[in-house]
Amino acid sequence: MKKSLCIILLSIFSLALNSQPVFNLQDTLRGSLNEHRDWFDIQHYDITVTPSYETKSIIGLVSWTAKVIKPSNNIQIDLQQPLIIDSVIYFAPNAKSGKSLTYSRNENVALVNFNEKLNRNANFKLVIYYHGIPVEAVRPPWDGGWIWKKDANGKPWMSVACQGLGASVWYPCKDHQSDEPDQGASLTMNVPDSLMAVGNGRMIKKENIHQLTSYTWEVKNPINNYNIVPYIGDYMGWSENYNGLKGNLDLHYWVLKQDSTKAKAQFTQVPQMLKAFEYWMGPYPFYEDGYQLVQSPHLGMEHQSAVAYGNKFGNGYLGRDLSGSGWGLKWDFIIVHESGHEWFANNITTNDIADMWVHEGFTNYTETLMTEYYYGIEAGNDYNFGIRRGIQNNKPIIANYGVNEQSDGDMYNKGANLIHTIRHSMDNDSLFRQILLISTNNFIIKQ
Ligand SMILES: [Zn+2]
Repeated sequence: MKKSLCIILLSIFSLALNSQPVFNLQDTLRGSLNEHRDWFDIQHYDITVTPSYETKSIIGLVSWTAKVIKPSNNIQIDLQQPLIIDSVIYFAPNAKSGKSLTYSRNENVALVNFNEKLNRNANFKLVIYYHGIPVEAVRPPWDGGWIWKKDANGKPWMSVACQGLGASVWYPCKDHQSDEPDQGASLTMNVPDSLMAVGNGRMIKKENIHQLTSYTWEVKNPINNYNIVPYIGDYMGWSENYNGLKGNLDLHYWVLKQDSTKAKAQFTQVPQMLKAFEYWMGPYPFYEDGYQLVQSPHLGMEHQSAVAYGNKFGNGYLGRDLSGSGWGLKWDFIIVHESGHEWFANNITTNDIADMWVHEGFTNYTETLMTEYYYGIEAGNDYNFGIRRGIQNNKPIIANYGVNEQSDGDMYNKGANLIHTIRHSMDNDSLFRQILLISTNNFIIKQ
């Protein structure tokens, strides 16, 4: 090889090396299962939060129930600055009363010492009291944080979007994608009487306390931390039953009162989406928790059994067809894409966000499957080929492990095209469908 070519190649190589992102201790604490995190398995989160729209602040407490996998006595709690931990109360296995523990804070994490080694398989409890002004989401869902908006009538409209950034932006948790609470989670929101609070799953309690109304919602299934969110606003709701593969699935819709007419027309697409997706991927994964579609102050997110919807009650992606084929205007992108995540992201979840292409690539492919189910195989092909124009090929779709890093937008369109290419190579559509069905049935956390 000529010397000059060598130098050029070396310069390109060192340029590539220099463009590698630099990670710090906080990234590692957030993204890896270190010795303060790998010894316990979260069983349940019980979250209570009282937001103040006027001061953009929250007061809350979260109870963790966790099982010991291997004996240890140090635990990491994730809670992002500037939120403040007020106290940590520890309940030893089988203890009726708790004791306050000291902790040391290192930016977005706190380290707590129990002063006793816990035995394997024992269940212990931590209750964490906290308060403060959480990071505000400026461009949700592309950045994360608490959302403080007003609806067109001037009424407060609040929610959270925190995928990637992490749920520790608003409540203390073990903020690692590998550990979902096995027994589910509950969320209690204390809000002014004039507003309604919707959470994931089912409402199990509503009561009045000190001029506020307290709503408690619960999911029984394991759930990703970032999927647990409040929706607080001037909501109205309606329901219908869907006769699905596992029997009766109750569907609930929550929208701002002012948008109910448009929403009732647009949300008729939900049963159509479910029919196509159950055919391709098997039963909706969370029959026990129902399916909810909730109007959100941002475009959308796959919040488990309470899917966020902000697509302005029209077809396409805010009225656009991302494939340019015409087929993308036949259905509502947010109803289809965010609900598709119930199978890929919420049912099948990767351990590390570096593999997020599995969530987004397969979910993007559900758009092709939806198109094919209703308009035929050539329509599905057209849609899939059309979205190739969005592929940038700037970097691999797998990011760095252990530092809470995700790759770029190619994980959507390129991921879906990768799947479509494999399907064409197989040249056996019934086998391909079987693989999807078996995957969604097998690669899930069993209770
Ligand atoms: Zn997605």
